Order: sequence, then structure tokens, then C-alpha cells
Amino acid sequence: MAEPILQVRDLRTHFFADEGLVRAVDGASFDLHAGQTLGIVGESGCGKSVTARSILRIVERPGRVVGGEILLRRRNGQLTDVARLPSDGAEMRSIRGGEIGLVFQEPMSSLSAFHTIGNQLIEAIRLHSDLGKKAARARAIELLAMVGIPRPSQRVDSYSFELSGGLRQRVMIALALSAEPRVLIADEPTTALDVTTQAQILALIRRLQQERDLAVILITHDMGVIAEMADDVVVMYLGKEVEKGSVDAIFHAPRHPYTRSLLRSIPSVLAAPRSRLATISGSIPHPLSRPAGCPFHPRCAEKIGAICETTAPAETVLPDGHAAACHLLTRAPATVPA
Ligand code: SF4
Repeated sequence: MAEPILQVRDLRTHFFADEGLVRAVDGASFDLHAGQTLGIVGESGCGKSVTARSILRIVERPGRVVGGEILLRRRNGQLTDVARLPSDGAEMRSIRGGEIGLVFQEPMSSLSAFHTIGNQLIEAIRLHSDLGKKAARARAIELLAMVGIPRPSQRVDSYSFELSGGLRQRVMIALALSAEPRVLIADEPTTALDVTTQAQILALIRRLQQERDLAVILITHDMGVIAEMADDVVVMYLGKEVEKGSVDAIFHAPRHPYTRSLLRSIPSVLAAPRSRLATISGSIPHPLSRPAGCPFHPRCAEKIGAICETTAPAETVLPDGHAAACHLLTRAPATVPA
């Protein structure tokens, strides 16, 4: 198998708030290959967006990457630990956008209302290339066509507020891909969109990925989106990776009770009319009062006793590479549901 483009090893990003220490990401590790989609899933507050922001080194104060490695295989073959680079230095600015593109959930907050989408695209193109203004404008029109914006040579002079939510998200994708990055991070790219537009944007990301052999990190709270898009999945809870494996393993043989709860909360077309959707009991604890032992124990319907309240479970790796951090895997294998 080819070398991964990105290797994240024991990533830790903490926030040093006045009220105390928040371990927003506390030991995430995964590999990402060209052409692969890695889904990172969990409820809001589980650390998935902070993981994305850490890779791009755009974590806001009082947060910072405090440990681990983010190894990026550069275009020239060199391996760079992004975690060691100054976040506002020239090298990181060239990686951000140039080698790793980012699509956010809400394009309105990422696109300027004061500049045309064309000027924003031209600026991004020229930041990472030596194209002149005219050539960059032609490239901007090409990018708008590539993401399916109708009449791109006219739309290039539009402002973001003149576009629908779906078209704005297409512009965000064009911006993210303007410098031909090999990695795309899409953070809840469809959450703010209606179901039809959501399906169109996911199809667009899939097509662009196939055309460019892009490595994609897709961050979402939605297991339905994961099922449709991901090859491999990392499930996060309270900053910890609790399970990871292929999309088949996660959906057909989930090993962690939190993953099983997320799966039960997917709406099913087979459900009886008016039946209630299963929800995960309780809510995510406040990040400053993290439970001892297994962080999921106050909400876990499969808790096996005091060990869950006192001892953090270590990750168990199964022969197929599927891994989970739960005492069920080591204490009572016979009771693990298939
Ligand atoms: Fe539930 Fe215990 Fe497993 Fe945590 S370690 S998920 S509390 S069974």
C-alpha cells in the first residue's frame, strides 16, 4: 500500500481556559491515504472539529497543540511534522490551502460579503501560484464551472449573499481546491443545507475526490453521511478516539457502546410510522468535569461495573485493524455483541 499522505499520532490539543484545562483532543491517531475518505464522527463537543483545526494549525487561543505528531507527506516527498511548525509562519501558510484545503460548515462566515466571489478566488489562486490577474480570473471561472456553478463567467462577479446556501458551499469547495491540495478537510459541509442540496454537495465532493485522487477527512455528527461517504471511520467521544475501523466494521460489527448508540440514532426507512428515534441517554459532560474511568460511563447502557468508573479502558486492536477502547473487549469477550 502507498505511503499515507497524512499520519496523525497521539494528537493532543488542550485549551488553557481561566476556569481550568479542557482536553479537547486527547490522543487521536489515524492515517490518511490518497483517494481515501476518513470520516470522523461524534456528537458536538467530542473534539472532531478541533482535530481538523489542529491539523491546519488554526486552533484559537487559549487552545494549542500540546503533543503528538501531524506528519504530512509534502508534494516533494518530504515528511513535515505540521505540529512543530509555527502556526502563523510562511511554511504553515503555504500548507494551509496549498496542500490541505478546508471546507467549513457555514460558508457565510467564511466568505467575505464585501468582495465578489471571483475576487476571493483570484486572491486564493494568486497566493499559491504565480498567475497574473487575468489568468487567475480565467482559472476562477474554471473552478466555478468545476464545482457546478451555472453561468460561471457571470457568477464570478456575484457576491456571496446573492447565492443560495448550496451555491455558496460550492464556492467554498472551489476555494478549498483552488491551489490543488492533495488533502481536503470538510467540517460538517452539509449540516446547514436541506436534504436535497446536502446530497448534491456530497456527490460533488465524491466526484472531485475521484477525479483528483484526493484524500478527504469528513467531519460530521451524522452516521448517515458517514455510511454514504466514508471508507474508514474514527468515532470520538470527549476528545478521545473510542473506536476506529473500516466503514463495514463500524456499521456491521461495532465494538464500542457509544458507536452502537450513534448507530441506533440513525433514522430508518424501515421504522414503524410515528416510532420514536432512539437517542443517547444523558448529554456530553461539561468538558471541565470529565468523568473518571471511561468517559462514556455515565451514559453507557452496557456498563460492566466499577472498573468502568475508575479505570480508563485501553485501546484493543482486533486482527483486522478494527480497534476500540472499552472494557467489554478485554474483560468479558463472550458478552460482546457480534
Ligand atoms: Fe461502557 Fe464500560 Fe465500555 Fe465505557 S468501558 S463504554 S462504560 S462498557
